[in-house]
Amino acid sequence: MSQTLSLLFVCFLLLMVGLKYWLSWRHVRHVSRHADTVPQQFADRVSLEAHRKAAAYTIAKTRLGLVETAVGAALLIGLTLLGGLQWIADAIGGSIGHDFTFQLAVVAAVVLLLALVDLPFSWFRQFRIEQRYGFNRMTVKLWITDLAKSLALAAVLGLPLLAAVVGLMREAGAYWWLYAWLLWVGFNALVLLIYPTVIAPIFNKFEPLKDSSLVQRITELLARTGFSSKGVFVMDGSRRSAHGNAYFTGLGRAKRIVFFDTLVERLQPAEIEAVLAHELGHFKLKHIAKRLALSFIASLVFLALLGWLAGQPWFYSGLGVTPALDGGNQGVALVLFMLVLPVFTFSFAPLTSYLSRRHEFEADAFAARHASGQDLVNALVKLYEDNASTLTPDPLHSAFYDSHPPASLRVARLVAGLPA
Ligand SMILES: [Zn+2]
Repeated sequence: MSQTLSLLFVCFLLLMVGLKYWLSWRHVRHVSRHADTVPQQFADRVSLEAHRKAAAYTIAKTRLGLVETAVGAALLIGLTLLGGLQWIADAIGGSIGHDFTFQLAVVAAVVLLLALVDLPFSWFRQFRIEQRYGFNRMTVKLWITDLAKSLALAAVLGLPLLAAVVGLMREAGAYWWLYAWLLWVGFNALVLLIYPTVIAPIFNKFEPLKDSSLVQRITELLARTGFSSKGVFVMDGSRRSAHGNAYFTGLGRAKRIVFFDTLVERLQPAEIEAVLAHELGHFKLKHIAKRLALSFIASLVFLALLGWLAGQPWFYSGLGVTPALDGGNQGVALVLFMLVLPVFTFSFAPLTSYLSRRHEFEADAFAARHASGQDLVNALVKLYEDNASTLTPDPLHSAFYDSHPPASLRVARLVAGLPA
């Protein structure tokens, strides 16, 4: 059984890495082949210069992704089959034994190691790629401050959750995973609830939207669609990036609408209204609730699976770890599961991407009904150009990964839905 797991793991890892490389290769080839001609649909709006920039930016990001994939796969094999996790557990276990603290320390050590390995990539992305294409607005100082804040936040939120889960694994019997799932659902609800007022302000400033004619438009749109929220805010996204965005946060009555200042500056009021109508569409058509429900169902299935695997000796030995005979394997079980699960679930990515793209089409149609489809088209084209998003993704790459449909399809649908 243990050898079967090792073999399966290696096969799925090779499949994942192979698929990622093949899709990236196709994407780079497709984007560079179409880099010198703006698609006809956008020819009168997007300059050739902007189109070429989007191609170069897309290729640079895809190439960095390839290096990340290679390093990630090597690290995964190193931690599992080559004995890295065993070594970490021995190193920690030697000093503090196999008690509760040991379980927490093993998880914390591996999470820190993964974060450390990600650091140079994150730096390169921000200060090389984003910088080169004119999107970076961050100083190194702000980047380091953000990092320190994220680490502190992860510790404040994550350590109590981890301690509770390990406690349940040790004390709650065969159905610990069910209690852990209830805890997980509660934890998510809490984070959603405090995100707008407690977590987001740690990183950004939020001010009520001041432009009174825009406020008027938005109030009318909210009334038309029967939506209640705790106000419309503008966030200082320009402190970090030139990319623009808009989103909803919060739960129930504490919902907030947030616009990046970069979006408000760049779009006309009617276009902002259309973008907001799209976001409202996600809410009104219950996309957000459906996604949340799906993620809770998935986490229940995964926790049940972990509940079973954690009690099987071959789960550990098949992934390069000798299980402790006293049964004190909670930390190692959590780490192994967290490391290995994405390898086995990667092949499901097209399913969730497909679902997400269908939701995007529905939200676009909602926006066209309640605001203006033409304004949404104008806003989308500006956003694609400003964000240097490619207008010509490889169709297979897009079908596999993209949460949003390609620009050409979105615009074509919106235009087709417009009254002549
Ligand atoms: Zn959307």
